[in-house]
This record gives sequence, C-alpha cells and structure tokens, in this order.
Amino acid sequence: MKALHARYPFLAAAREAVEEAEVDLTELIREEAVVARATERVTGALCEGSIGDPHRSTRVELLSYPVARVLVSLVDERICTRKYARAEANRAISQFGAARGAAADLKSDRTERLALADLLSEFDLASAITEDETGYRVAVGTYLTLASDVWGDQWRLVNRTLADGEVFIERAELHTLLEEAIAQRVARGLPLSVPEALAEPLETEVEAVRETLADLDLTREIDTVVPERFPPCMKALVDSIQQGEHLAHHSRFAITAFLTSIGMNTDEIIDLYMVNSSFGEEMTRYQTDHIRGETSPTEYTPPSCATMQSYGDCVNKDDICEDVIDESHPLNYYEHRLEQADEDELVDWREENGDGETAQP
Ligand code: SF4
Repeated sequence: MKALHARYPFLAAAREAVEEAEVDLTELIREEAVVARATERVTGALCEGSIGDPHRSTRVELLSYPVARVLVSLVDERICTRKYARAEANRAISQFGAARGAAADLKSDRTERLALADLLSEFDLASAITEDETGYRVAVGTYLTLASDVWGDQWRLVNRTLADGEVFIERAELHTLLEEAIAQRVARGLPLSVPEALAEPLETEVEAVRETLADLDLTREIDTVVPERFPPCMKALVDSIQQGEHLAHHSRFAITAFLTSIGMNTDEIIDLYMVNSSFGEEMTRYQTDHIRGETSPTEYTPPSCATMQSYGDCVNKDDICEDVIDESHPLNYYEHRLEQADEDELVDWREENGDGETAQP
C-alpha cells in the first residue's frame, strides 16, 4: 500500500491495492485504529466539513476509507453522504493543489505525486479538458455535469465564455471542477448494501454519527426567526445587506444558507435582500432556491465556524462563541440563544412583518 493511495483512496489504483492485500472487511472493522479513523472521517465531515488529519500509518489511513463508506451506508442519510463525499473531495484536492505548488517551486522530494494528467485520465476527462495559454477549455457537456452542483453565479453557463462547444475556465477553477469529480466518485454506489456481519460490530460508531447528525438536524428544525439572537457573524452580514454593501459569494452563501436553515422561505429572504437594490429579485431567487435544494440536488447547510473563519466571515466573536459553543457552528450559537430566552421574548420576525411589505429585521 502506497502513501499515494492513502492520500487519494478513491483512485482505482487504491481500490486495487486494497483488493490485492486481500483485506477481510469483517476483520478490519475490529481494528480499533482503523474504525476510529473511519469514524473521525465521517463525523469530521459533518461537523467541520473536514475529514481530519491523516493517520500516521499509511495502512490505517487507506483502510479507514472503505470502513468510512460502510459507516455512511449504515447511517443512510442523504445529507451525511453528501457532506462526507464533499469533505473527502476537499481534502484530496487541497493535497493535490499543495503538491502541485511544491513541484512548481522545485521543492519536490521523493514523495510520489499525482500528476494532473493522471487525475484527468482517472475521471475520463483527458479529452474533455484541454489547456491553453490562458487557462483551460472544458467540453460544455462535461462542464455542465461538473459545475451543476457548484454554488455561485460565476458557474452558471450564461455567465461563461463559450466557443466551439467549449467553456473557458481559469486555472484555479479547474481544481473546483476536479473536486466535483472526486465528490461524485466518492458518493458513487452509496449507500452500499451492508451485511449484518459488518453492521452489528459497528453499531456504536453508527450511533455516534447519528447523534452528531441529530444535533445538526435539530438546529435546522428551529423555524424561528429572531434576528436579535443571531450569532455575531450573521448579524454583521445582515447589517452589510441592510447598508447596501456588496457581499462576496462566500458571505452571501453563508447568510442565505443560515436563513434557510432557520426556516425562512425564498420569498421572505427576497424581502430581506430587496432592501438592498443591488440584489436583483431574479438572481436572488435563483441563488436562494439553489441553496434550499429546490433547484439543485443539495440542500446546503451554513458553513461551520472554522469555514467562516477561513473566509474572514467570523467577526465580533463574543463569550458564547468561545465559552459555550466552542467556535463550532453558527447554528449552535443561535440554538443556544433561543434556548436561553423566555417564550414571550421570542417574537418571530415574520409575524412582526407579515403584512407582505418589504421589511427590515
Ligand atoms: S465563532 Fe462561529 S458563531 Fe461566533 S462569530 Fe465566529 S463564526 Fe459566528
């Protein structure tokens, strides 16, 4: 088993390496280190959008991947599968990008690296994606397949340069499309049909993942809109909207996903956004429906605190962020603030503004 396989366990070569090792899954799921790492991959994907740091053992790291797929299959929740696949893809493409950068800087050591040509070939993309002097050209059918689930206006075909059946993309955008290809590969075939002999020994781990999922689901069932109790980061984004500031894509995604997660529908969010004249209704409706999963295969959840921090959207942190929710998730903050309030303090913004006029929280 090579380190390269552990870094990219979705590769056909990695699967062959596991098969050649004649690993017995029923024995593997009794290996504590493998199961612990597999569980970490899945719960990390749910909580942080990350599968966590690789295990120091190449064997444990690689073999935890098929066990994680078994866990995801036993949990058998669409949101779990999607978040897990996305986290695996995100880790893989981050490593791929870092390795390419190191090679370009001539910092290359004897570590075996995955070449771009290998990755394109792995996904049968070699003839559909070609490089030119400014970036890459992608066959339109391939583009639509890979970009359909990527959030952001810039990915809509109508906003792209298209010529001779090819879409032009910048170099940085290629990694986004490859990440989509990897996520689709990881999710392919899930949920697996898992025999009882594998399911029974993994009951504790499956229950742990379900509890993690339940915590997140609980917050999504809040259906209460009390802006005074929003976390500081979301309050700041709402303020920016109210002041007519332009929000970066990641910021607009974060606030829209947060608002949908606490029960606001598309029309209510449009009412909020239309306060700012730079938000056209048609575009806002498209983005909101996409995030809510109405026009996309994914119901997006808002970013975790870690992701908010990495994009510079975590601002005005307070004691609750640091001492109560441990900088975990903005929805956890909001849920905590709602739990702390008396019932009569919780006046829903939609009830206060139910006259159909554009209103401001
Ligand atoms: S710690 Fe989390 S909840 Fe608090 S401001 Fe930052 S992102 Fe928001």
